[in-house]
Amino acid sequence: MWTLDKNTYGFLMQIYLRNILFILGFFLFASASGGLDKSASEKDEEALVNLIQQSQLSKEKLVFLVDSLLNGDTISYCVLDALNKKLASSAFYEVAIDTNPPSHDLYELWDTENPNISSEIPLNDTTYAFDLIDKQNDCGFVMPVNGIITSLYGYRDGRMHNGIDIALHTGDPVVSAFRGMVRVAKWYGSFGNVVVVRHYNGFETVYAHLSKIMVKPGDMVDPGQLLGKGGNTGRSRGAHLHFEMRFKGHPVNPRYIIDLENKKILSESVVVKKTKTGFAAYPAGTIFHTIKRGDYPYKVAIQYGITVKQLTEWNGLHKKSTFVAGTKLKVSQ
Ligand SMILES: [Zn+2]
Repeated sequence: MWTLDKNTYGFLMQIYLRNILFILGFFLFASASGGLDKSASEKDEEALVNLIQQSQLSKEKLVFLVDSLLNGDTISYCVLDALNKKLASSAFYEVAIDTNPPSHDLYELWDTENPNISSEIPLNDTTYAFDLIDKQNDCGFVMPVNGIITSLYGYRDGRMHNGIDIALHTGDPVVSAFRGMVRVAKWYGSFGNVVVVRHYNGFETVYAHLSKIMVKPGDMVDPGQLLGKGGNTGRSRGAHLHFEMRFKGHPVNPRYIIDLENKKILSESVVVKKTKTGFAAYPAGTIFHTIKRGDYPYKVAIQYGITVKQLTEWNGLHKKSTFVAGTKLKVSQ
């Protein structure tokens, strides 16, 4: 389903009004050259100009007015002039134009060439909280591909795997997980054909190894909207989707945001915490333990009624990882 968002609506309305004005100008020219019809009284005209000049005249009323003027036989110059002035007034345009990409308060740049963005980790803001889904527009989450997860986020063969791999057949549809705007849609190194979407929830999602890209930068996408077709391009062995979730350029573990088994989001809200190397995202309500001197895995696990295996898994720890005082550990599902 495709819905008009506020920005698109404002933009379309602007084009609409500009075209209408052009038509109005043409009517005026035609009536001036073909002999003026003086049936409209000057009093009515004055009332109309006053109405247009009213500061509280809404965009909808203005559109209605333009429509009704087009139904009439004549349009006077002063009415057209008043409309022009009204449209040119900054108050009207401020409302009509908002071309900012999603989450522009979090991101300084909108780079349509490079999937990777460099972003420094802010020192002060350590925790963010976001609504994952767009409740206002009734937009949720859709799993990008309905396949088996073949590889999870984390260390794999001695190197970091920044996303999850989902099995597919070449040509299978790959869809956007959340509502947002396409930032990158191109071939990029080991990603092969890749699409990056920036979302209103603060995250970016990455869809790599596609056989075909079917969107372009700037396209608005709803959850479930087609981005391209799955494939085996770039550094890939076998057709699959490499899917990443990123916050301010840093990959986060999708497993703490998406219930991968049931293909739903874990929680409508999410908490993003700063770590030493980047950010980690968790469902709202997750409990954390701050490591104190003298803590060790078994001691912390038993304190929260979880197993050491759960503790190490949830926090991406190795069995031999040493505890550093001050580090936050996730101690609840
Ligand atoms: Zn991968």
